[in-house]
Amino acid sequence: MSTIRFRALEQTLHRKPILVEEKGRRSELFAQNVFNEQAMRKHMTKEAYNAVQNAIELGAKIDRGIADQIALSMKEWALSKGATHYTHWFQPLTGATAEKHDAFFEPIDGGGAMERFDGGQLVQQEPDASSFPHGGIRNTFEARGYTAWDPTSPAFIYGTALCIPTVFVAYTGEALDYKTPLLRALHEVDKAATAVAKYFDKNVNKVNATLGWEQEYFLIDMALAKSRPDISLTGRTLLGHSSAKGQQLDDHYFGTIPTRVLNFMRDLEQESLVLGIPVKTRHNEVAPNQFELAPIFEEANLAVDHNSLLMDVMKKVAERHSFKVLFHEKPFDGVNGSGKHNNWSLATNTGVNLLSPGKTPMRNLEFLTFFINTIKAVNDYEELLRASIASASNDHRLGANEAPPAIISVFIGSQLSSVLDELENVTKGKISPKEMTDLKLNVVGKIPEILLDNTDRNRTSPFAFTGNKFEFRAVGSTANCANAMTVLNTIVAKQLIEFKKEVDAYIDKHSVKKDDAIFNVLREYIKASKNIRFEGNGYGKEWETEAKKRKLSNHKTTPEALQAKISKPTIQLYEEMGIMNEVECKARYEIEIEEYSLRLQIESRVLADISRNHVVPTAIKYQNILVDNVKGLKEIYGTSFKTIAKEQMTLIESISEHIEKINHLVSLMIEERKKGNAMSNSDKKAFHYCNKVKPYFDKVRYHCDKLELMVDDNLWPLAKYRELLFTR
Ligand code: ADP
Ligand code: MG
Repeated sequence: MSTIRFRALEQTLHRKPILVEEKGRRSELFAQNVFNEQAMRKHMTKEAYNAVQNAIELGAKIDRGIADQIALSMKEWALSKGATHYTHWFQPLTGATAEKHDAFFEPIDGGGAMERFDGGQLVQQEPDASSFPHGGIRNTFEARGYTAWDPTSPAFIYGTALCIPTVFVAYTGEALDYKTPLLRALHEVDKAATAVAKYFDKNVNKVNATLGWEQEYFLIDMALAKSRPDISLTGRTLLGHSSAKGQQLDDHYFGTIPTRVLNFMRDLEQESLVLGIPVKTRHNEVAPNQFELAPIFEEANLAVDHNSLLMDVMKKVAERHSFKVLFHEKPFDGVNGSGKHNNWSLATNTGVNLLSPGKTPMRNLEFLTFFINTIKAVNDYEELLRASIASASNDHRLGANEAPPAIISVFIGSQLSSVLDELENVTKGKISPKEMTDLKLNVVGKIPEILLDNTDRNRTSPFAFTGNKFEFRAVGSTANCANAMTVLNTIVAKQLIEFKKEVDAYIDKHSVKKDDAIFNVLREYIKASKNIRFEGNGYGKEWETEAKKRKLSNHKTTPEALQAKISKPTIQLYEEMGIMNEVECKARYEIEIEEYSLRLQIESRVLADISRNHVVPTAIKYQNILVDNVKGLKEIYGTSFKTIAKEQMTLIESISEHIEKINHLVSLMIEERKKGNAMSNSDKKAFHYCNKVKPYFDKVRYHCDKLELMVDDNLWPLAKYRELLFTR
């Protein structure tokens, strides 16, 4: 009885909520530890402040002298807040954030010491980071990479370290992180969207992509989580019989937040606010012990940084409350998994949300322009968008009847559908004054500022318009949002460039007014992007059939989906837009496809270990008890023992059957794994793991879960679903 499971359960019985006090008004806590505009104004010379602002707004270079000034003020600010170290903070392709702390402290001649931090240290560093994934970009001769300051994301103090957000690139210039291509994509969408927005308002000179993510997660008692090798090593349960009560009563969703969890959330929110992450919403999600947190949306690069930072903060705060936070997309079979909705829009420097309808026909034509161009971009690059969210863990979620299918489609609601239907009939060429008035008053002018459809949103769509933004719902909960955001902003930028070209050409060719040209081009886009629009049930089988007819992609597994990352059109797109060159595209693909195999390899190993070394021995132990029991009964009752011990004997046999199956299946799985491991081609290996190794997971699990139901609960070594999901 002294298994780790029971010791863990014992610990959970004595847990008390760790009460968290409010440290002050939240508005006052906000951004206390961020070297933001306000702090810069206070601590920097006007010259230095202006230089940073120019760098942020116009991408202007900062010269070394100014960088020294900035570093000096940053250091003084950080020291005044108790910081002892500084670090370049970046997002390598491992998925986690990276930091390497250096002390400000430096000895000086004569035995004393001082705090030092200069412009050089602020702007560029060369961490010995040769072990980060690089997909072949950095060979051993050129193993160096460097980090460079990203002034658009403000420095912050985390713990006692001043963290400076940076990009991470190879000396040869190729991106080694998530941020570099994202920044390039954001720059492109800014340029392209500004040019188009100028059709409607000459004062627009900058467009920011905005992102509001919603992070779903599970909170599991730390001791219970540690008692399970699968949770510890893979972030999910590889086996476990479902709990009698799961989510079927829907009593967790939006329910009262459990006290221990509420204190965790309070702690987390206050810590996040101090770091400038504008957390706003918290609630229970559908599955037991599943929750969600959402901030107020921000400029996309900052929002991506904040999501990465938040995930890190969450892990640490969870520990303080004896929880383990699970970000995995599908930690438990039979209950909902987790996603990370990416709400996305475009905002101008003049304060207009380009995806929000407005009060005037002109504003609404602008809205429609960006709206339709986005749909067209998704239509043309749906496969690449699908690839941007592919991962071994997200495969469990997509298409599993609780999350969007692996087919990308756009939902826009009935009101806007009928607007597009009408626009499709706009006369070709010059539009008569009467038609133009009619269009402006009765079609475009009739789009209400607030769309009714907001309320009956289609929850089954992977890419839904939700009134004033698009919501990309297929993003996985473990994902770095940069992946999806790089693709989305790149394809929209590309589309807007095309649009501008076409409209300008149309004006020249047909000598018509700008509005005529816009209506004409939009009409063709509406026709050309019909295939991607789908208003029905995305979870239904009928949709798969229909999507196939429409020739939409439906890649259910990561190795299939990832191919789009290195397809000709993708490389062409990325090169043309200056986001990544062919080497960078291929390197990233290589990293992701390898990661896929590695994750499956780890899961397969863990499964083999748990089933053979935990489940089977436990089953044998229990079987021996039964055998002793039968022997005893035989001693007492002689030949009539067979009727008395009937149940026990059936169980004994049944246990043997399951044990035999487990051992057999695990052996076969290991054989396949060996074959896979021997493959040097990473593509082949990934497909092999996907098609030959993975199918054993469910088969092995089936027999283990059956045994869980048979074996004496007192002997079972692994924390059970009911314990993991209902201890709070
Ligand atoms: P839910 O999807 O849970 O019903 P909402 O649709 O209200 O919730 O989405 C809220 C999310 O959308 C928030 O994270 C919010 O920050 C984000 N959001 C709202 N407006 C925008 C915008 N213009 N750009 C990006 N994100 C936005
Ligand atoms: Mg949402």
